[in-house]
Amino acid sequence: MTSVLVIDDSGVARHKIIDTLRDRSLFDFYLEAEDGSRGMEVLLNHPVDVILCDMEMPVIGGLKFLEMRNGKEGLMDVPVILLTGHEDRESMIKALEEGASDYITKPFDEGELVARVKVQLKIKSLQDSLKRSNLLLYELSHTDPLTGLCNRRCFMEAMSREFNRSSRAHTPLSLVMADIDHFKKINDSYGHQQGDAVLVDVAELLNTHLREYDKAARFGGEEFALIFPEADIPQAAEVAERIRTETGALSFDGKLKDLHLTVSLGVATYPRGGIRSVDDLIREADSALYAAKRSGRNRVETMRLQT
Ligand code: GH3
Ligand code: MG
Ligand code: MG
Ligand code: MG
Repeated sequence: MTSVLVIDDSGVARHKIIDTLRDRSLFDFYLEAEDGSRGMEVLLNHPVDVILCDMEMPVIGGLKFLEMRNGKEGLMDVPVILLTGHEDRESMIKALEEGASDYITKPFDEGELVARVKVQLKIKSLQDSLKRSNLLLYELSHTDPLTGLCNRRCFMEAMSREFNRSSRAHTPLSLVMADIDHFKKINDSYGHQQGDAVLVDVAELLNTHLREYDKAARFGGEEFALIFPEADIPQAAEVAERIRTETGALSFDGKLKDLHLTVSLGVATYPRGGIRSVDDLIREADSALYAAKRSGRNRVETMRLQT
């Protein structure tokens, strides 16, 4: 679906432009506005692929319109073709510098208008597909393909973001490391594919414990990490304990129906116990996790607090 926005104070001029474009079926939607500020309103409320904007209009003209648009995130990619009544080189150069993509002099030649609009439409569609590809690449490079959780890279980025936020705002940041107990035995007894299915189930369980700004990541093979911004040790330990009991209560179908799954968890919180960096926080959560493993597994351990 494509749409064009035509901004001109003259209704006759607007309709001439729209009729010309409509005759070639260049767009699905034809939007119009009689001045720059009305044009901005339309632009903010509808997706637009190309804008044709008259240079001379009372109050908000073409240049002012470009200036207004330049302040707005997300509108910069919409190409603007300016229409000018006379050859005013200086203001056309200014307009191009302000971000106009092209200009056409009035009275316009229909063929030229159509050709120039087509060029901008093509550029816009290439830009849009590039944006979609980049987004997809970003998602692929930040997602664990098996569980759909945030992957290690995504986890490290989120940790660094949250750590900075937490140290600026003086709010706590908790990290829980969770590692499935004797997972190797599950693979050995039921096969790697069933092992994968268990990882997916655990990821799903973790997801049910997340609040809006929390994040669950697959840290490694059968090790998961949970980021809890603004949660102190007792709060994070409580969630960890719920995850532990719910994991123990998971029931499986088919080949896995006799499986009794357990998980060990380690909890650490910034700013406690001399933690000064993301690495410190990860190290503390990890050593709490290993303390849980050493003391028999299927348990939650919190970091040792230095006094
Ligand atoms: P512990 O209780 O000490 O954590 O014992 P464990 O057996 O869980 O730990 P260990 O580190 O010895 O073994 C982890 C196993 O997880 C070994 C590895 O083959 C398996 N693993 C790692 N990634 C995957 C995966 O993506 N799928 C499956 N099915 N297994 C995996
Ligand atoms: Mg005018
Ligand atoms: Mg394990
Ligand atoms: Mg492990």
